[in-house]
Amino acid sequence: MSRAWNFSAGPAALPEDVLQRAQAELLDWNGARASVMEVSHRGKAFMEMAARAEADLRELLAIPPGYKVLFLQGGATQHFAQIPMNLCADGQRADYVVNGHWGEKAASEASFYADAHVAASSKADGYTSIPDRAKWELDPRAAYVHITTNETIHGVEMQGSPDVGDVPLIADMSSDILSHPLDVSKFGLIYAGAQKNIGPSGLVLMIVREDLLERHPRPLPRIFRYAEYAAADSMLNTPNTWGWYLAGLTFQWLKHQGGLAEMERRNRTKAELLYAAIDASGGYYGNRVQPAARSRMNVIFNLQDAVLEPVFVAEAEKAGLLALKGHRALGGIRASLYNAVPVEAAVALRDFMAEFRRTHG
Ligand code: PMP
Repeated sequence: MSRAWNFSAGPAALPEDVLQRAQAELLDWNGARASVMEVSHRGKAFMEMAARAEADLRELLAIPPGYKVLFLQGGATQHFAQIPMNLCADGQRADYVVNGHWGEKAASEASFYADAHVAASSKADGYTSIPDRAKWELDPRAAYVHITTNETIHGVEMQGSPDVGDVPLIADMSSDILSHPLDVSKFGLIYAGAQKNIGPSGLVLMIVREDLLERHPRPLPRIFRYAEYAAADSMLNTPNTWGWYLAGLTFQWLKHQGGLAEMERRNRTKAELLYAAIDASGGYYGNRVQPAARSRMNVIFNLQDAVLEPVFVAEAEKAGLLALKGHRALGGIRASLYNAVPVEAAVALRDFMAEFRRTHG
């Protein structure tokens, strides 16, 4: 069996070493004579594994004191609603900076609990840029400012973290968490669905400043309250044990690879290879995103002759390059280059692009 290069946007490629380790441990995990999915989450072995995963994540991201790490469920989408539920009084303003589909959806879900105000949007240019910080209409009394650091569908990424004063900054980092070093202290809350850079779907990672957990804007069932998860070490009920375990293996893998600085170097190399190929193609391939906002995680492009796009995807698949079809909302091609996608995969895609252009030019 040979594995293909997998450019899926999510669920996405996992590090091969992680899959092999999970395979080797599947029937007998940690001497338990059962798999990690078949033992109690309250048992000593699982609790130790869970604590180690958190410690490794804290080390990778240099998470400062005063932050809780939560291993949750529900996908990032559930937290679009649950964040305002936990942090906003009824009708209180929450500012949303929208630079793509997911930010739009986050604001829309928040509107059930908050005055979700779009403080800036790049919708007018088709989400091909990050709204200029100087033009964000922020309210200093807002419950928080929400950003999406990487828009997975539109292929737009925010570099660095914006200064929003004393209002807590909340970031959906579903598709770029752990892809580069990060100054966590700039954020009040970071959250990410796991299925791109962390592990399998069904797990959501959250890093939240403790003072935000003290907000109680409305009565909520315990199962929706982040403070309850924090007090119970994310074991308020049965967690996604398999997801937590695979996330832990991924964190160990990241440490062995040289941590997030090394990931950033590789991610930059991969993305630059593809953008260079697009830009040097004389318009055969095109990407409309402003160069400073181009995502390193999701490289989107179109073919000048759109009729050839399905041919490109099908021939790529035959050549062992999977899941290059763009999101249905935009069409075109999308190559997702998460941490587990090696530089060799980007090289293979670049070479395929050159060959395709030569044969279908
Ligand atoms: N935010 C971003 C940036 C995403 O890419 C996605 C999924 N592709 C989501 C949120 C939604 O995640 P989930 O499917 O885990 O709800």
